[in-house]
Amino acid sequence: MTFFIDHNKKSIHLQKFAGDRCGFIGTPVSEREFTNCPKYVERLKRESRYNRCPYCTSVHTTLIGDGQDIRLIN
Ligand SMILES: [Zn+2]
Repeated sequence: MTFFIDHNKKSIHLQKFAGDRCGFIGTPVSEREFTNCPKYVERLKRESRYNRCPYCTSVHTTLIGDGQDIRLIN
């Protein structure tokens, strides 16, 4: 699972589900980062106030959780 981090907007997406509606189009490449480390993502949220992208949120929450609560977005 790869996370896509928009450092310009301080938002976190899932690469797999990220799209035009996520609003990162204006973010320069240098401000974009890809990671497959959930702990790094959690730290950004907790310590740097990064926000989960609303369009990726439900999937994102599920996949970085304990894996017991699997839900699908529409
Ligand atoms: Zn997104």
